This record gives sequence, C-alpha cells and structure tokens, in this order.
Amino acid sequence: MIRIEDVTKRYPGGHDALRGLSLHVDKGEMVFVTGHSGAGKSTLLRLIALIERPTSGQVIVDGQNTRRVTRRRIPAYRRQIGMVFQDHKLLYDRPVFDNVALPLVIAGVGHREAARKVRAALDQVSLLHKEKQAPETLSSGEQQRVGIARAIVSRPKLLIADEPTGNLDPDLSLEVMRIFRRFNEVGVTLLIASHDIALIDQLGCRRIALENGTLQVEEEEDVVAEYVERFQTDGERWHL
Ligand code: ADP
Repeated sequence: MIRIEDVTKRYPGGHDALRGLSLHVDKGEMVFVTGHSGAGKSTLLRLIALIERPTSGQVIVDGQNTRRVTRRRIPAYRRQIGMVFQDHKLLYDRPVFDNVALPLVIAGVGHREAARKVRAALDQVSLLHKEKQAPETLSSGEQQRVGIARAIVSRPKLLIADEPTGNLDPDLSLEVMRIFRRFNEVGVTLLIASHDIALIDQLGCRRIALENGTLQVEEEEDVVAEYVERFQTDGERWHL
C-alpha cells in the first residue's frame, strides 16, 4: 500500500527532515511510526498525503507514484486517504453532522447519499446520537472520534493519523486505538504516528522507529539477541 524508496526531504533552510528513508507497508497492515519529536514522523505522513513532496526518492501509494500526481489531481488523490490529526481540525461553528459531511460535500456527493454515509461513519465511532451537537459541547475524546468519522466517511483504503491520541488520557487513547483496530479488521491499512510506546506495546502492532529522519538503528540488545538466535540455528545446522 505504501512504498517509500530512498526518500530525502529537505525543507527550505537546508534541514533534512528525512534522509534516504526506505520502508514498505503492506495492504491490510496496521503500523505505528515512532520516534522523538523532530524525528520526521509528520513529514513522512505529509509526503504520503501529498501535503509535501520529497526532495528526492519515490513515494508510491497504492501503486501511484506521487511524483506523477499533478496539483490539479491532488484533491482526487487525497480522497482515497483518510487523515486524522492530533488537534481534530474541526469546524467549531458547524454541528458534528456537517463536520463529517465536509469531504463528501467537497467531492460533490448528493445530499441523500451523503447523509447515509455520514450516519454510517458516526455509527462506527458510536456518536450517532450527537450529530446535531456543536463540537465544543463534546469531550476531547468525542471530538477526536468526530475527526475519525470524517476521515473514514469516504471509505478510504488507507488511513493515516498524526499523534491521534496526543491530547487524550490513557483510557480514551486505548478507545481510539480500538476504533482503528476495528477498521483494520475490515481491511483498512493504517499508518499511525505516535510516541506513546506503552500504548503501542499493548496493541502488539509493527513499529517503525525513526531517528533524525532515518530508520533507528537496532538497539544493541536486539542485535545481540539476533546473533544468539542465529548462532543457535547455525549451530543446529552444523551439529554443534
Ligand atoms: P516529528 O513529527 O517526528 O516531530 P517532523 O516531521 O515534524 O517531526 O519534523 C522533522 C524535522 O523537520 C524537525 O527538525 C522540524 O523542525 C523540521 N521541519 C518540519 N516541518 C518543517 C517546515 N515546514 N520547514 C522547516 N523545517 C521543518
């Protein structure tokens, strides 16, 4: 679903946010991107969402090389990807229903079909009963769920989330992750940037660790463990 091939991203000013990064995410995977602040997590997601373009290298999403997506085609490209942000990015002067409907309105989906899709999305995050409420009357966790409903309302195959639990306490964070997991169970691929290692460990998903714009080198312990394992396998092979 995602192929990042030798990608470097240099921002104006000369800072390399990503350096020669390569990674793959298969269809149907749920993968976390971890790393300290400034490691390049958001930049990676922004390249996938075509908010930024790589300085060099290839970003290929569901078989499409983003290099070939012209500016005019970016909105259509983005419609295939659901995006969830830490700060919700909701329209606070509009009710929940309108917030979730927004991507459909932009895409020109008819009113009746849009209403059906909005209610299906709100149902998936258990907020059907709050469709008429203003976002500020909802809790932080509920607001994040509205953001998730908006991200999935067009039924994207890929969902990317940038620190989606950054403002939530541990219980609400787990609830959000459970919602993501349910999407994953029905085939949605998810790439989630988070530095909440304890939460990720609870979920047991694959983790891609970034450090200064590259894949983090394996911890020494892991390297030793791998050598021991390899020695044991080789030992058996050579009857040691
Ligand atoms: P993370 O999400 O892991 O905190 P980011 O991808 O936001 O990391 O940032 C990686 C590096 O790129 C940081 O050093 C950050 O300061 C820099 N950076 C991010 N966005 C920009 C930008 N628009 N212009 C210049 N530098 C940026």
